[in-house]
Amino acid sequence: MLTFDEYQQRVVAAMRQLPPRAVDLSGAAAGEADLLGLMTAQPVRTAVALPGFTNSAMDGYAVLAADVASAREDAPVSLPVVGEIPAGDTRSLKLAPGSCWRIMTGAPLPEGADAVVQVELTDGGLQQVQIREAVETGRAIRHRGEDVQPGDEVVPAGVRLRPRHLPALISAGVDEVTVVPRPRVAVVSTGDELVEPGRRPGHGQVVDSNAPMLAALATECGFEVTAVRRAGDTADAVRSVLSEVAAEADLIVTSGGVSAGAFEPMKLAFEGSDHFDFVKVAMQPGKPQGFGTLDGTPVFALPGNPVSSLVSFLVFVAPAGRVLAGRDPQLPTVEAAVAERWTSPPGRQQFARVVFDEDGRVVRPIGGQGSHVLGGLAGSQALAIVPADTTEVAVGETLRVIPLEGIA
Ligand code: AMP
Ligand code: MG
Repeated sequence: MLTFDEYQQRVVAAMRQLPPRAVDLSGAAAGEADLLGLMTAQPVRTAVALPGFTNSAMDGYAVLAADVASAREDAPVSLPVVGEIPAGDTRSLKLAPGSCWRIMTGAPLPEGADAVVQVELTDGGLQQVQIREAVETGRAIRHRGEDVQPGDEVVPAGVRLRPRHLPALISAGVDEVTVVPRPRVAVVSTGDELVEPGRRPGHGQVVDSNAPMLAALATECGFEVTAVRRAGDTADAVRSVLSEVAAEADLIVTSGGVSAGAFEPMKLAFEGSDHFDFVKVAMQPGKPQGFGTLDGTPVFALPGNPVSSLVSFLVFVAPAGRVLAGRDPQLPTVEAAVAERWTSPPGRQQFARVVFDEDGRVVRPIGGQGSHVLGGLAGSQALAIVPADTTEVAVGETLRVIPLEGIA
C-alpha cells in the first residue's frame, strides 16, 4: 500500500507542462472566454502608447490655464465656446487663446489647450461660458503614453489570465498572446451496468453519473473536455474506446474497473503492461487506483463509486491537469475547526465530506461516509483531510479542507 502523498507525488511528477501556443486575441476581443484561466507563457508587451492620444479626464471646457488664472466665484472669467468635442471625435482641433472648447471625458484635447475646467466649476454655457475657478496647467488631462509606453510589459509571464487582464491585452495593439493551452481531457466510464444519462435504468442497471460528473469537474478546473464515452466491462471494449479518444486528449480519466472483482476491465486491459500500475493507496475513499500511459497519453483509472471518483479526481487528476496547464498542482485548501466528531479508518488518509457552519470556518460531517452515498455528496461543501494516523476526529480539532465551491 502506498501512502497518499507517495502516490500523489508519483502521478504529479509524471506530468509535463504542455508546450505554449500563440492564441489569437480575436476571441477574447469578441467577449469569448477562451483565454480565461490560461497561464501566460511569455510577457505581453504593448505595441502602442496608452492612452493613445492626450484626452480629457472630465466633462468640461478645454482652456489655456493662463486664460482662467484670475477666475473666482465672485469674479468669473467669461470665454467664448468655439464648439463641442465629444468622445470619438476624430478631428484634429486647435484652441485659439482667449477661447475654449466644450469637451467630454475621453475626447481628444485640442492642440494648444493645457487644462480642462470641469463643468461643475462653470455655468455650463454653450456659446459663452462663465468659469468660476482658476485651474493649474495639466488639470484633468490624461497625457498620451502616461499609462504605458510602447514596449512596456502589460501582463507578465506566468500569470493566469483573468477578466482584469483583458483591457491591457486587448488595448496593447498585439494580435496574439502566448499561453499554456487548456489540457484536453477525455472521460470514459466503464461498467456493463451503466445506462446513458436520461434513460431509465432497468433492474441491475445504474445511470452513468460519473462520466458527466468527471467532465464537469474537468471543465470547472479550466480543462477542455474532448470526449465523454462509456465502455462495457471487457478489456477490448475499454481498449478500443480509449484508443479512439487518445488522439484528442492530453489526459484520459476513466471510472470503474480497477478493484478486486471478477470483471475489472481496466485491470484486464492494462495489468501487466510496462506503462501501467494498479495500486492500493492508503486513503478513504479511493483505495484502488490505476495510472499509466496509452501511447504516451496519461491515463488515470479511478474507482467507480461516485464519491471515490470525485475525490480521486480532485486529489490526483486536478493536480496533474494543473501541471499540464503550467499551474501549481495543489488545489487551494483552508483551515476549519471540527464541530462534530466522526471516525476515520486507521492507517488511511480520509477525505471526509463535510459542510461548513455559517461562518465558514467550522465543519461537520454530512451523510454516511460510504463511497456510494450520492445524497451526502450533493449536500457536501468541502472535503476535510484527516491524516492517516487519526482514527477519531475530535470536536475543536483543526483540519485542512478542500472547498468544493468553485475549484477552478
Ligand atoms: P467499480 O469500480 O467498477 O467496481 O464500480 C463500483 C461501484 O460504482 C458499483 O456499484 C458501480 O455500479 C458504481 N459505478 C461504477 N461506474 C459508475 C458510473 N459511471 N456512474 C455511477 N455509478 C458507477
Ligand atoms: Mg465496474
